[in-house]
Amino acid sequence: MARYTGPKCRLCRREGEKLFLKGERCFSKCPLDGHKRYPPGMHGPERRKKLSIYGLQLREKQKVKRIYGVLETQFRKFFEWARKMPGNTGENLLSLLERRLDNVVYRLGIAASRAQARQLVNHGHVRVNGKKVDIASYLVKPGDVITLSDKAKKFAIVQENLEGLDIGTIPTWLSFDKNRIEGKVIRNPIRTDITYPVNETLIIELYSK
Ligand code: SF4
Repeated sequence: MARYTGPKCRLCRREGEKLFLKGERCFSKCPLDGHKRYPPGMHGPERRKKLSIYGLQLREKQKVKRIYGVLETQFRKFFEWARKMPGNTGENLLSLLERRLDNVVYRLGIAASRAQARQLVNHGHVRVNGKKVDIASYLVKPGDVITLSDKAKKFAIVQENLEGLDIGTIPTWLSFDKNRIEGKVIRNPIRTDITYPVNETLIIELYSK
């Protein structure tokens, strides 16, 4: 699966807000907290101007794609899927993105960022209901149990992440047994489970043109 491999901070600078793409490190050393508050590129400092409606819609879509590490083709597929589901398309879209296996591994606190979670999944270290699943876009469903391979449970990075984990930060649609390193999907995520600032209506408007 194709993915963006360039500098992560560049993506946040382009959106003009912190997207927390590097996990914990974003709290200590972030260019957006310092001098680089302008878009990347040679003309970056001059580029932050008032956006048109289309510009706002486009930026909102790019922001959500970047948060979840999803490229255009797959994002579009998620949108089409969300559109065919009953209920609000924008909320369906966010719920589908949240249910991605890499996002769930991140939300459980096993990984410090979605990129790290994606690596654990891609390298075959994640189990869903006891079976290896190495597809980051795999969608979990209520009742699914997420664990790690015995080898991955001992990874220093996993141990480090779990040591600093505050169980209270895990969203209520998931549960986690820290001692067994075992997560469970209690229910599908709903709009109020998504706490980062996003205006999904702008994305729907963009795709409805
Ligand atoms: Fe870089 Fe994280 Fe700051 Fe984004 S939030 S600019 S990824 S340090």
